[in-house]
Amino acid sequence: MQRIEGGALRIDGVAIAAETREAVGREAAELIAARGVRPGIATILVGDDPASQVYVASKGKAAAAAGFHSEQHRLPADTPQAKLMALIGRLNADPAIHGILVQLPLPGHIAATTVLEAVDPAKDVDGFHPVNAGRLASGDAGRALVPCTPAGSLILARRAAAALGRDLAGAEAVVIGRSNIVGKPMAQLLLAENCTVTIAHSRSRDLPGVVRRADLVVAAVGRPEMVQGDWIRPGAIVIDVGINRIAAPEKGLDAAGRPKTRLVGDVAFAAAAARAGAITPVPGGVGPMTIAMLMRNTLTAAQRAAVR
Ligand code: NAD
Repeated sequence: MQRIEGGALRIDGVAIAAETREAVGREAAELIAARGVRPGIATILVGDDPASQVYVASKGKAAAAAGFHSEQHRLPADTPQAKLMALIGRLNADPAIHGILVQLPLPGHIAATTVLEAVDPAKDVDGFHPVNAGRLASGDAGRALVPCTPAGSLILARRAAAALGRDLAGAEAVVIGRSNIVGKPMAQLLLAENCTVTIAHSRSRDLPGVVRRADLVVAAVGRPEMVQGDWIRPGAIVIDVGINRIAAPEKGLDAAGRPKTRLVGDVAFAAAAARAGAITPVPGGVGPMTIAMLMRNTLTAAQRAAVR
């Protein structure tokens, strides 16, 4: 972790994700050697959304790099829901597959909740099934599969606390955002770390005042640079989950004559870094951890299947 000039430690998500993926690769090789079980992941992509294609391809690459069996199922955008459900049923029954990932968003004619609930909770490596959400909420994270982005964010928060010589136990944590994918599971994980957790959201009163109390801030909103530098309590740990693409006219025009763009988080990085104890950049912070944790969840699912 490097110190940003005059300010916070920069939490290097790229390096920590690489370490995580290497560890997963080593443990996968041990599982194969000890029990003859190769972790297997199946991704399902319905339709041809370009961003989803990129995500699915990078998940496939990470799986191959970790030594996993991986298969990609690409279905046309007009695939009937029943056909998708039948595929999930086959993958649920396939002993070579330990993780099933249905890439979101699904086309409008498909009920995403019905589909996600059809995935065997033991193979639900996204951690979106109500059984896994329930286990996490009832303090049984050890038997759950935990959503990847909050699980990765927790690792970064722990590393930052360790680098600063602090304990997360007893810390005031503020999670901004209450989605099922990030905010809520993040809050559950921090509660399990013995933080005092506040969940703030679009209807919270005096958000700056709430954030100013925090020893640890996790921003998962989807609003570019919403969290201002002067909201950050001096020395706080800041985990920025947001990924927002904004126009960057300073970079010139693209081939089509439109201003080029750049990625920013939910936190005004430079101003926040001047006050924080440690902060994740965007890109290069939480983002790379998400795929690493997907690999970790697939390995966990395979390890559990091997001892059943
Ligand atoms: P979401 O839209 O489902 O939820 C956003 C949350 O922010 C809501 O709970 C809402 O109450 C809250 N919110 C909205 N406006 C607010 C305001 N003005 N003040 C306070 N709270 C407000 O989004 P999500 O799926 O949780 O994702 C959040 C962000 O994280 C997005 O930028 C998304 O791209 C990013 N994300 C990143 C990764 C990753 O791998 N790094 C993964 C998932 C999501």
